Amino acid sequence: MRSPLEDILIAKQITPTAMRLLVLEVLQQHAAALSLADVEQLLQPADRITVHRTLKTFTDKGLVHRIEDGSGAAKYALCEPTCTPKLHQDLHVHFFCTSCRETSCLPTVAVPTIALPGAYQVQETSLVMKGRCPRCADSD
Ligand SMILES: [Zn+2]
Ligand SMILES: [Zn+2]
Repeated sequence: MRSPLEDILIAKQITPTAMRLLVLEVLQQHAAALSLADVEQLLQPADRITVHRTLKTFTDKGLVHRIEDGSGAAKYALCEPTCTPKLHQDLHVHFFCTSCRETSCLPTVAVPTIALPGAYQVQETSLVMKGRCPRCADSD
């Protein structure tokens, strides 16, 4: 019998292992994006190198994407089911809350195409907006 978590991994051509299932579960349980240190702490005790390798595999396979939110540590969030290893960049806007310091995906807000002058060749575009998330704005 396969669990729903195993099915998600298998659908992305990732072989389920105990660690991969645990990391996926942690990512699912948190609406906000998590850094390597966050995942490590939530899974304690977890080996940092194994967690790092797991997140890299997930990123390579289009299960999660990396977000640079300017906080110094890259964060990871689950992708939309339609992401593939080839077509999976931060195509949506991310929001960094300066109050609770959580980073959220805004999957319904697309990053606009920005025309660049001359011979600049864009590899990827990411857009992180900063401010207060709905929860923190409410607590005023
Ligand atoms: Zn907040
Ligand atoms: Zn995202």
